[in-house]
Amino acid sequence: MNLIALPAFADNYIWMLHDGARAVVVDPGDAAPVRAALDAQGLALAGILVTHHHPDHVGGVDDLRPRLQGPVYGPARETIPGPYLALHEGESIEVLGLRFSVLDVPGHTAGHIAYLQQTDAAAKAPLLFCGDTLFSAGCGRLFEGTPAQMKTSLDRLAALPADTQVCCTHEYTLSNLRFAAAVEPGNTARAEYEQRCHARRDAGLPTLPSSIGLERRINPFLRCDAPEVVASARAQGAASDETVAVFTALREWKNRFR
Ligand code: ZN
Ligand code: FE
Repeated sequence: MNLIALPAFADNYIWMLHDGARAVVVDPGDAAPVRAALDAQGLALAGILVTHHHPDHVGGVDDLRPRLQGPVYGPARETIPGPYLALHEGESIEVLGLRFSVLDVPGHTAGHIAYLQQTDAAAKAPLLFCGDTLFSAGCGRLFEGTPAQMKTSLDRLAALPADTQVCCTHEYTLSNLRFAAAVEPGNTARAEYEQRCHARRDAGLPTLPSSIGLERRINPFLRCDAPEVVASARAQGAASDETVAVFTALREWKNRFR
């Protein structure tokens, strides 16, 4: 199975999985890069997975329908361009012979879902398509959810196996890492990762996918109990050392960070 990040707009990725004959795409905000990739490799479009309703994630769905040979899957608690198969927490789907389970991860939007590949012991690292919930070194803005909801969603993702491949939808890594450096200047793993990400961007490559294990070490939003993160959050007005208070202060700080 091949995994490709198709660049779209200024900083989106449309993830494509294909087996050489059939492909699925995740969050096609624009149909053009998907069509180009299908044509270049002679692939049929076997399905579309959608994580949430924002236009930069669903804008290409209707334009791709004429080529689509399978379902559009999307969140049951949001409205996306129909028809689509509405998915709930705990359900699973099969695409290209791979099983994905559905996780509710509200916060960025109220009904945001993630798709987690179910692997057997012999398989490669599991894949996570998490939309705009978890980014490398950051997390999505809270448009429709509360900090407590987003914290719970991120905690669920952080508890996944360390080798889980994090396929998020935006190339925000370097700007997130500038914020992470302000939050946790003493984190050497973050500093090393920043070097690697600069090299990848300079070479025109995505910084993604990341992994859950790496994010646990470098992402301040997954480190709300690390002493340096707590201290920085307190200095920015966190009401207590409690993790939701720390998370809330970090998210508000990031919103105004330049
Ligand atoms: Zn979004
Ligand atoms: Fe987005």
